[in-house]
Amino acid sequence: MPGRVIVTNGSVVTLDDANTAFFPGHVVTEGNRITAVGEGPYTGPLGPTDVTVDATGQVVMPGLVDLHYHTALAKGFSDHLPLWEYLDQYWYPLIRQLDDDAAYWAAMVSYAESLRGGVTTVNDMYRKVPSLAQAAARIGIRAVLSNDIVSPQNNIDTIDDNREAYRLAHGAGDGRVEVYVGFEWLPLGDADLLAQVRALANELGTGIHIHLNESLTEVEDALKRFGKRPAQLAGEQGVLGSDCVAAHCVWLDDDEIATMAATGTSISHNPSSNAKLGNGVARLPEMLAAGINVGVGHDAAECNNSRDLFQVMKFAGTIHRAVRQDSSLTPAEQVVRMATRNGSRALHHETGSLEVGKVADLIVIETRLPEMTPLIPGNLEHIYSHLVYAANASMVTTTIVDGRIVMRDRKLTFADEAEVVAKANEAFLRVLRRIEG
Ligand SMILES: [Zn+2]
Repeated sequence: MPGRVIVTNGSVVTLDDANTAFFPGHVVTEGNRITAVGEGPYTGPLGPTDVTVDATGQVVMPGLVDLHYHTALAKGFSDHLPLWEYLDQYWYPLIRQLDDDAAYWAAMVSYAESLRGGVTTVNDMYRKVPSLAQAAARIGIRAVLSNDIVSPQNNIDTIDDNREAYRLAHGAGDGRVEVYVGFEWLPLGDADLLAQVRALANELGTGIHIHLNESLTEVEDALKRFGKRPAQLAGEQGVLGSDCVAAHCVWLDDDEIATMAATGTSISHNPSSNAKLGNGVARLPEMLAAGINVGVGHDAAECNNSRDLFQVMKFAGTIHRAVRQDSSLTPAEQVVRMATRNGSRALHHETGSLEVGKVADLIVIETRLPEMTPLIPGNLEHIYSHLVYAANASMVTTTIVDGRIVMRDRKLTFADEAEVVAKANEAFLRVLRRIEG
């Protein structure tokens, strides 16, 4: 069990229901829980094993939750194509050739970038789940992992692969790793496979991670093959529910939005991926108005190409204003809540806010920088604005997951960055040689 960590003298943004903040304040963690949050610098007793983080001039807030994530091996490689063609020609061939070691190092480099950017939880759908679990357990990130299930003739992952992954990896890393059931997307599946995904999730008592209505081509394909839209079909097959995270949902019609709300399904909004791939702009204002719990995700570094969730927040906070000519949409505080509490709620985690008794996932962000200037002392609205519109991942100085400091002064605690980078490069080139064979 980790000892006490005392984060003191920072601007503490708790994101609790009352929107409490302390200027300055302190947060104390013990084991994996928050044991104190309060006004002013910490003045209590200090034990010999206590670790103190001086957060003077910095913001202390809950860790970010990247609600739609894929470990990525091939960032920036042949990514100029539209989604369907890119998947067909590069993504599927590459992930079909993955080996355990390549998946491990791809996960290490992906999680390293995320932790350095203040992301404490990832909802990661990829292959070779036990290797991903090993990487997550070692580097210290909180990870919900799932397979990439498709129909057997499409030769990626099967229902049985995901069942086996659950058996091998669920609960790893002192419980920081969970395994969900993952469905790739409907063009590589059908109604029966959707029903099997729900049956497996029920059998295991776990959640579902699915891509839905990401591109217009996907919706048109479903209408042609099934006479139904993807989210409509997923609803009919019982996939949707409060244990289901649906990614993208760019092309939802009114009935599908109502179904998402009625079933309590959470949505991961991934506006920078949708923009880069030319998929469109999701109907976020309608989703929020319907009462749907919406978090944010970067998707995959192949389709983004950054895992910087501050960038994703900026997209979420600006793109809807742009396309609707309405600057009253997506206020900064709402966007920060999407990236913290809403993501946590989607995964049923006890994280997402700084409150006594909650699980201790928190980050510290530097503000004594030209990029974060000016900053009115004690002004919470100004901090939210900077977090969404001005900040970037490199300003995160400390990342704490489950009460453990996993990154401090921009250095990872449990991984050697130079080794991770070298091994991830090797892994990519090895897998690439196989597909170029
Ligand atoms: Zn995705």
